[in-house]
Amino acid sequence: MANEQLKTAAESEPQITEKLSPSIHPQVFQHTVNQADMAISITDVRGNILYVNPAFTRVTGYGSDEAIGKNQSILSNQSMPRAFYQSLWQQISRGEPWGGRLVNRRKDGSKYLAELSISPVVNGAGEVLNYLGMHRDITEVQRLEYQVRNQKALIESVVDAAPVVIALLDIDDRVVLDNHAYKMLQADLGMAEPAPMLMTAVRASLELDTGRGRRTSGYLFLDREVRLDPPGGKQPRWFSCSGSRVREDAGTAEAFLAGQGRDYLLLVAKEITSLRAQQEKARVAALRAVMADEDRVSSLRESLAAATFRLEGPLNMMASVVGMLARRKGETDPMSVALADAVTAGQKALDELRSMIPGKTREAIGPVNLNELLRDVLDLSTGRLLAAGITVNWKPQAMLPTLKGAPNKLRSLFKALIDNAIEAMNTRGCRERELTVVSKARLGGIEVIIADTGPGIVGTQQLKVFEPFHTTKRGGGHLGTGLPSAQQVAAEHGGFIEIEPATARGCRVRVLLPLDRRP
Ligand code: FAD
Repeated sequence: MANEQLKTAAESEPQITEKLSPSIHPQVFQHTVNQADMAISITDVRGNILYVNPAFTRVTGYGSDEAIGKNQSILSNQSMPRAFYQSLWQQISRGEPWGGRLVNRRKDGSKYLAELSISPVVNGAGEVLNYLGMHRDITEVQRLEYQVRNQKALIESVVDAAPVVIALLDIDDRVVLDNHAYKMLQADLGMAEPAPMLMTAVRASLELDTGRGRRTSGYLFLDREVRLDPPGGKQPRWFSCSGSRVREDAGTAEAFLAGQGRDYLLLVAKEITSLRAQQEKARVAALRAVMADEDRVSSLRESLAAATFRLEGPLNMMASVVGMLARRKGETDPMSVALADAVTAGQKALDELRSMIPGKTREAIGPVNLNELLRDVLDLSTGRLLAAGITVNWKPQAMLPTLKGAPNKLRSLFKALIDNAIEAMNTRGCRERELTVVSKARLGGIEVIIADTGPGIVGTQQLKVFEPFHTTKRGGGHLGTGLPSAQQVAAEHGGFIEIEPATARGCRVRVLLPLDRRP
């Protein structure tokens, strides 16, 4: 009976055999279906089974003699909602294929999850004659899928709960995955992606430390302490960063053959700002002491230099008077002799004075982060800035390239400029008191602008202020050596300082330093 119905279906669909290659015998199809690994059944239009293959028996436990003549509903676990089957039948009755997952029951009563597809077999007139059902047991696949999903959810919740910033970056430093702490950092800094900035800082620190960095297997870098200068002059933040490589096997067909995959970098950053703040405090205090010492020595040096400079003039005059007297009255004239002795004694004293001028200490050249250095100088000047009621507008470029230079010398250069700016604004008539410090990377160098809202320097004085012992300040205590020394330090670094042409108000000093010109 079942075979007859199948025969009827085949006869009413002659096109199928017409399309067969003459080299393929129709029996090949029967063998193929028989040996297929999928549970295959063919039913009539009511779902009554006409044929099942051996795989059907393996999956369901029903032999072909037990299944044939029964309805496919023998597999129903009676747990799927009625509407589910209604929509299945509506679709296949219209001659459309249906596919989905459902819970089936084997002959022995055990349940399994089936992935089922039903294809209506239609004749030339579009009339449904039979249904072809194919299904496989996907219980294990589903279990693994759930396991992966659960593990993913678990990992995500652990990663989210971690009190460290975690971001997965692709090879272009684009963030493909992040955690809650990372999102908080984004909000705090008010920037779209802090991760590329952290990576730039890590790379700069790795470059500086080539060969010295701690490399631990599995990590590309470990516990790299980097500093972020958030835009808008906010307080700098410190992070200890570690990174490791993560490889993802691509799921594409090409990748399956070629073993392709994508590399990611797992960046883990722990904020250590408060710890660094304490260390910084101690460091700035030590720096203040060192700089105060250096200031004392340098003002001694400058005072002695100024004294010798001023003494040289009268002494030279006396020497020429001695010459004149000797020519007029002869070299043995007692007056000439006494004066010549006085000049010689004066010159000896001057030489002694010169030899007492403390020499400049040689400083080792090293990598300098100019933002850090400027911040140091501002920190050192905080007391004076506050006392003078000056507000600071600090605009560092977020990531500045590293400069090779002498940090102490550069620090005194900027200290001199900031001291000048404070002094210029700390005068009676100066109401608006704002100090602007800007750092910017320029082609092959770094530009720093120090601008104040003081009275400014008039055009004629703008070059003169760089001459030694020239001062625009009235009253004692000013030797006029600050700017010339600063200019000298800039020159030693291959750079220069210039005072920009008079602006509406105040003074704008521009310092340009090349990146790796060794002093
Ligand atoms: P049933 O009373 O058999 O059917 C439930 C609802 O389905 C009915 O209310 C009705 O709306 C609709 N329906 C049933 N028969 C028809 C029909 N002839 N024409 C229009 N609507 C109809 N079910 C499984 O549970 N597991 C399987 O693996 C499975 N494989 C199938 C393979 C094929 C090729 C076909 C055609 C059907 C298959 N079915 C399968 C569906 C099965 O025939 C039953 O519909 C289903 O098992 C529900 O059975 P039931 O006894 O709970 O309800």
